[in-house]
Amino acid sequence: MATNRTFTMIKPDAVRNGHIGAILEQINAAGFRIVAMKYTRLSQEKAGAFYAVHRGRPFYDELVDFMSSGPIVAAILEKENAVADFRTLIGATNPEEAAEGTIRAKYATSIGENAVHGSDSDENADIEGSFHFAGTEIFA
Ligand code: GDP
Repeated sequence: MATNRTFTMIKPDAVRNGHIGAILEQINAAGFRIVAMKYTRLSQEKAGAFYAVHRGRPFYDELVDFMSSGPIVAAILEKENAVADFRTLIGATNPEEAAEGTIRAKYATSIGENAVHGSDSDENADIEGSFHFAGTEIFA
């Protein structure tokens, strides 16, 4: 079901580097409405489960270590065409390939430490949002 929602995380690198405010401002300015948000930290187990699809890839252990290395901001965002528009707003996985002005071009430091997550499909947006939020924490 297309929900017009996507799921994002401001990753530990961007939190450590003081970019929470600037990133949320850019998200709001692009027309996304925050319907759920929390400041939290993933355990190794939760980070491993969130990225289970990448298990076996050479960067998996590094990714799990990084994503559990400090606090994150997790949020569900709402906008027409949310998934695709948010992927455009954040830019390519590798910041060297991210279009100018995108969140990753501005705030990412490497392909691994790339500032933000954005869901890649409506189905995954739903799964990832439910991974982090109970129904009572989502404000439509
Ligand atoms: P995304 O959808 O743009 O986030 O990219 P992927 O789903 O392909 O990868 C998930 C996350 O794994 C990325 O956002 C990076 O944090 C990390 N990642 C992907 N490729 C690499 C890589 O080659 N090296 C490292 N260290 N991390 C990677």
